[in-house]
Amino acid sequence: MNFQLETEHIQIRETVRKFCLNEVTPNAEEWEKNETFPVDTIKKAGQLGFFASSFPEEYGGTNLGFLANVIVAEEMGRASLGLACCLNMQSGTCPMTILLNCNEEQKQKYLPGIISGELLGCFAVSEPNAATDVAGIETKAILADDHYLMNGTKMWITHASVFDVGICFAKTDPTQRHKGLSAFIITSDMPGLTGNPEKDKLGVRSSDTGEIVFEDCKVPKENLIGEEGQGFKIAESALTYGRANIAARSVGIAQAAVDSAIQYANEREQFGKKIGFFQMNKQIIADMVTNTEASRLMVYRAAWLQDQGLPSANESTMAKFFASEAALQTVIGASKIHGAYTYSSEYPIARLYRDVMLMTAGEGTSNIQRIIIANNALGWNK
Ligand SMILES: Cc1cc2nc3c(=O)[nH]c(=O)nc-3n(C[C@H](O)[C@H](O)[C@H](O)COP(=O)(O)OP(=O)(O)OC[C@H]3O[C@@H](n4cnc5c(N)ncnc54)[C@H](O)[C@@H]3O)c2cc1C
Repeated sequence: MNFQLETEHIQIRETVRKFCLNEVTPNAEEWEKNETFPVDTIKKAGQLGFFASSFPEEYGGTNLGFLANVIVAEEMGRASLGLACCLNMQSGTCPMTILLNCNEEQKQKYLPGIISGELLGCFAVSEPNAATDVAGIETKAILADDHYLMNGTKMWITHASVFDVGICFAKTDPTQRHKGLSAFIITSDMPGLTGNPEKDKLGVRSSDTGEIVFEDCKVPKENLIGEEGQGFKIAESALTYGRANIAARSVGIAQAAVDSAIQYANEREQFGKKIGFFQMNKQIIADMVTNTEASRLMVYRAAWLQDQGLPSANESTMAKFFASEAALQTVIGASKIHGAYTYSSEYPIARLYRDVMLMTAGEGTSNIQRIIIANNALGWNK
């Protein structure tokens, strides 16, 4: 067993960390306050190859592997979770769906643009009446000659009002649940498609989130991914990667909370002593540091398994469940250390507090991860 990162993993971590220290951390608070979508920074990250590690060279990838991808996600999540939300669209669920399920022409057409940051991606499942219940979505895509006529509304979609190309799930047979679900490539220039941003969110305000409305939108027949009825399987194929990616972002935000709490505990004095001296605060800090490290190990293991071509879906699910809940508790712990200053914009803790809730909801809530993990343990998912 070897817990040592390879040289290329250490290098990419250092490169991303430096990029974040120079280009992200100094702007993170301002972006959140003003709801600025940092498109130039995202494009620059793409040009530097930060989205490309899980992809083969023939599609513009660097082939560094999935461990490199989660290291990037961790570092970006540490600097700005809002910015890091772009990762699933540029290097996770969106392009992974294309890599794993699309034909050669579709891969050549879209993958190089997405993983270089030239094209912004999206992955649209959730709707006003269905999110956890994926098979209950109501958007319809009905075949009419050489196209599908798409009608419906997607909600809470990352990059809804800025994307260029994305994956959208719709019912080709509305009488069925899972078996009626199909996956499509959509592009923002399709007539009948409108993306509207959701403003004034609680957190990750620098990430574009919103609704995508389809009104008699003509989606070319060749944009169907795979065959009709394969949508659920296609969604699941990419979620393994998406879950490890969001787990890594959870490690990043937890580490940011640890960093801030430790700095504060070494500065702030009460009763004539640094507050880190008090045993109750030490307990909080010990829990935060230990849970963050345990999360990191789970995420790295899930990514390593993927890089070895070994089964990793259950490990990604466990990593996502553990790391997102641990991040939530770690941010709460850090806020206890900061006391009243949790409410101040002088420290990043207020931003971390607003952002962290997304980690336990995105890519499936903790309840759903628990159900999957338990069903696997019980042998019911076979
Ligand atoms: C900032 C942001 C960005 C997002 N980006 C995207 C995106 O890019 N693409 C996308 O498709 N979606 C996106 N989402 C949506 C996200 O994936 C959903 O919020 C998430 O799947 C949960 O859905 P919901 O919030 O509608 O909760 P619901 O499905 O309404 O569930 C509410 C609660 O009930 C629980 N619950 C529901 N069913 C069960 C059950 N059977 N057993 C036990 N508990 C259950 C859930 O765990 C949850 O706690 C985003 C959301 C946010 C906030």
